[in-house]
Amino acid sequence: NEAAVLMASSSSLDELIEALRCLPGVGPKSAQRMAYHLLQRERPGSERLARALDAALQKLRHCARCNSFTEDEVCERCLSPRRDPTQLCIVEMPIDANSMEQTHAYAGLYYVLMGRLSPLDGIGPKELAFERLLARAADGVVREVILATNFTNEGEATAHYLSELLHARGLKVSRIARGLPVGGELEFTDAATVARALRERRDFV
Ligand code: ZN
Repeated sequence: NEAAVLMASSSSLDELIEALRCLPGVGPKSAQRMAYHLLQRERPGSERLARALDAALQKLRHCARCNSFTEDEVCERCLSPRRDPTQLCIVEMPIDANSMEQTHAYAGLYYVLMGRLSPLDGIGPKELAFERLLARAADGVVREVILATNFTNEGEATAHYLSELLHARGLKVSRIARGLPVGGELEFTDAATVARALRERRDFV
């Protein structure tokens, strides 16, 4: 029975616990708790999770234009004829683009870095594929690049680093305004504040 399975120190259980530790902030103890919860209390949910994860890994890839996740070569947002292709907003994660969308104050396109510069974690310009971003921004259509990385130390450092690269290619660069608090992250900021930060963006030099 299930209880017996949980008691036994089986290798598949060890493997599950070890695998759960790839999640951010999950240490050995919480990995164990999650594994027991999944196996003991949440069998249907676990099966669904396994299937969803498998399907997502098979189907999702990065959009060739904005680097966000999509099942197609180019995502729906990038293909939309209603968006202004002369503005390119750079955000850290897909969830940040969604925060911008909720403001209804922006109709341009996005580029999603999938992270931010973080030397201590070994994330540098190469890991974030800045070359792809620069090629995207220099497509001849983009006239303004709006830096909307978070107002954390790492987000600010990323914005400064990018602005130098973009300026060197003759692009106009702006930064969303500091309506956001110091350390502020788009994900946790209300839409009205994000909208104001976007409206009040200024040239970034
Ligand atoms: Zn896209």
